[in-house]
Amino acid sequence: KKVADRYLKREVLGEGTYGVVYKAIDTKTGQTVAIKKIRLGKQKEGVNFTALREIKLLKELKSPHIIELIDAFPHKGNLHLVFEFMETDLETVIRNTNIFLSPADIKSYMQMTLKGLAFCHKKWVLHRDMKPNNLLIGSHGQLKLADFGLARIFGSPDRRFTHQVFARWYRAPELLFGAKQYGAGVDVWAAGCIFAELLNRRPFLQGSSDIDQLGKIFAAFGTATPSQWPDLAYLPDYVEYQYVAAPPLRSLFPSASDDALDLLSKMFTYDPKARITAQQALEHRFAKSFNGVFVFVDFCSYL
Ligand code: ADP
Repeated sequence: KKVADRYLKREVLGEGTYGVVYKAIDTKTGQTVAIKKIRLGKQKEGVNFTALREIKLLKELKSPHIIELIDAFPHKGNLHLVFEFMETDLETVIRNTNIFLSPADIKSYMQMTLKGLAFCHKKWVLHRDMKPNNLLIGSHGQLKLADFGLARIFGSPDRRFTHQVFARWYRAPELLFGAKQYGAGVDVWAAGCIFAELLNRRPFLQGSSDIDQLGKIFAAFGTATPSQWPDLAYLPDYVEYQYVAAPPLRSLFPSASDDALDLLSKMFTYDPKARITAQQALEHRFAKSFNGVFVFVDFCSYL
């Protein structure tokens, strides 16, 4: 039976933040799609107009590095969002120890992530929930950002569903200090955490609570102080932490190149106003230098 007279339902892909996700065939195009069924729960009046208007904006957000929102419709009291189908995600790739990630692979994943981010930030749309399982990978290795803008429309997911605690590991310090006004820097911080995870093949800052998360951040980069971050003392949940000094960044990323370390340090700048933007990160020499050089070196080793 068809949903909305158009989609042929296939198997369930998983249970996500907002509800169940299933595979389907779009009979209009023949394309395989993923349909996210969003529980509207308490909002008895159904989807409000603000949400619908924002969803309409997301449909306009088209880039090679953003999962396309193909369609959105209400059905049996749930909101259905139809996305292009992707084979796997970056979390699965990072965890699979049979997959070798060369420096060129890591660079390429970071370039695609930053391109997707820069595109959306230019249109003033924040992701707010960047983590490796939101970076979907297609059959040809192309990476696209999923769930763009949903956190804003449907509320911060991790407060409503306990299985979402992992999102904390990617949370920027300004959010942990309770900032109500924040910007694109929260996505850049999260992308830095993903970069770190690609390099070390395990989540970088694994806090067990919001306080512990800040502790992990300070242990890695040294305690944030108002001299580096003037707005810090004005944040709602600001408390003074005992000062700890930062270990050399190199000691945390033994395998990273100097260019990679330099970009990481700029993505992990405490003051969100001084933090590198996604666009600037794309222009950083780490992202700009030629990928093919690694292929050449590999080739030479066969001679
Ligand atoms: P979470 O909220 O935990 O990130 P999601 O709601 O994004 O989870 O997705 C739930 C499940 O559906 C996951 O297993 C995910 O891999 C799968 N999924 C989500 N979007 C897509 C898609 N566009 N293509 C294929 N699988 C998807």
